[in-house]
Amino acid sequence: MSDDRTNTPRPAIAIARGDGIGPEIMDATLAVLQASKAPLHFREIELGEAVYLRGHSAGVAPEAWDVLRETGVLLKAPITTPQGGGVKSLNVTLRKTLGLYANIRPVRSYHPFVETRHPNMDVVVVRENEEDVYAGIEHRQTEDVVQCLKLISRPGSERLIRYAFEYARHHGRKKITCLTKDNIMKMTDGLFHRLYDEVGAEYPEIEQNHLIVDIGMARMADIPEMFSVVVVPNLYGDIVSDIVAEISGSVGLAPSANIGRNFAMFEAIHGSAPDIAGQQIANPSGLLLSAVTMLSHLGLNEPAERIHNAWLKTIEDGQHTADLYTSSRSRAKLGTMAFAEAVIERLGQVPDRLRPQRYKSDRMTPPEIRPPAPTTKALVGVDVFVAGRMPADDLAATLEAHQPDSLTLLMITNRGVKVWPEGHPETFCTDHWRCRFMGKDGAEISHRDVVTLLDRLAGGNVDFIKTEHLYTFDGQPGYSLGQGQ
Ligand code: NAD
Repeated sequence: MSDDRTNTPRPAIAIARGDGIGPEIMDATLAVLQASKAPLHFREIELGEAVYLRGHSAGVAPEAWDVLRETGVLLKAPITTPQGGGVKSLNVTLRKTLGLYANIRPVRSYHPFVETRHPNMDVVVVRENEEDVYAGIEHRQTEDVVQCLKLISRPGSERLIRYAFEYARHHGRKKITCLTKDNIMKMTDGLFHRLYDEVGAEYPEIEQNHLIVDIGMARMADIPEMFSVVVVPNLYGDIVSDIVAEISGSVGLAPSANIGRNFAMFEAIHGSAPDIAGQQIANPSGLLLSAVTMLSHLGLNEPAERIHNAWLKTIEDGQHTADLYTSSRSRAKLGTMAFAEAVIERLGQVPDRLRPQRYKSDRMTPPEIRPPAPTTKALVGVDVFVAGRMPADDLAATLEAHQPDSLTLLMITNRGVKVWPEGHPETFCTDHWRCRFMGKDGAEISHRDVVTLLDRLAGGNVDFIKTEHLYTFDGQPGYSLGQGQ
């Protein structure tokens, strides 16, 4: 599709009006986009409550998928998630189906026009969006114990980390901080941290540091000015991005982008606010700034800059929606569409006191990941997880009585604490035991040895509930030593 008068291409984008305040803030956002003459072509799709209630468990109308595939870009208003069972999260479905690996949340303060205790904060959280404990693989294994798998992949992490560095380079940001808990999760968070160091070496002009996530979040809540770009695995990213939005002064202002290889989705971080729906009092800024991020993502940096600066000028001029309104800082209390009109009036203006926003004229380079280096993998042992209530010494005696000649029982742990050999009587034990067998005298073993072991344990009425193979990769153990240390 092209603009009839200028013949410039007009990218098609999908829009979803959503629920609650969604249609009001979308109308306001579209009014500003159209007034800015951003060359866009809109295709509306249906997402949300009405689609759920028609029986589509993820809230996406079947015909919407085709439009999403054709456009590759979605500007989405918030939706209402119906209460009750049988309902899947729309956002998780979109994220996973469309491969949206990076969640970007830029948050800055607008002091003194919006109240905040952190007048100089300006942080962009780049959060991994598909992996970690959000893979949703959970099991109840015994009466006492449930587990959730934390999956961190090399390509998933590398792509996200490269995105964060490219983002920093493109937006002229000078510092990136990585947050992990790799002092405890040495393999999963350790991989993320290692990739951060490896990729970071290619960006020497950007200052880099890593913080353990607990102190990192504490500092974020206290001194957010020390951060610029923050790159994080999924769960920590979920938490830290809410902290950042909250301390900036208003959750209603923060935009977000979900970026994938072939698709991108832009939305405000707030929900559908049913308590104020239909009253024309909602603040459209979160969605409007998401649309600005979308324009920049599409390489439409000129209208992105025009709208962003007009919006900053509007805020600076005290033209505020009810959520931001205070008699000391505001000059007018505006409704949703009136606020959009105030922004439209200021198109072409820049703020006097707030830092104007600048967008580069080019598009950001999408990150490419390296092919994995070939590794030599060897099976050297197996962890057999066993259910039951018994003393550890009795369990060890049963296991040793049934182990084949190729394997030796090395240790038993309970919730990661070694209880055999040389356990401590004080250790509290559940009904969930991890029993580690290694190849005799350090020899490699085969799948057949594992099957033989399990066959014998079954013969001895041992209630094994899962196995985890122990591999070395180029001679390095691919498993934690797991003695609760
Ligand atoms: P919410 O963000 O909708 O509302 C929290 C509070 O903030 C309310 O008092 C609301 O009035 C206010 N608020 C939110 N956005 C505002 C705006 N733009 N202007 C002025 N005030 C605003 O959170 P909630 O009440 O927990 O959730 C409501 C619904 O939204 C739920 O069904 C939830 O599942 C859904 N939700 C959707 C998304 C999404 O689509 N991305 C995100 C979060 C929540």
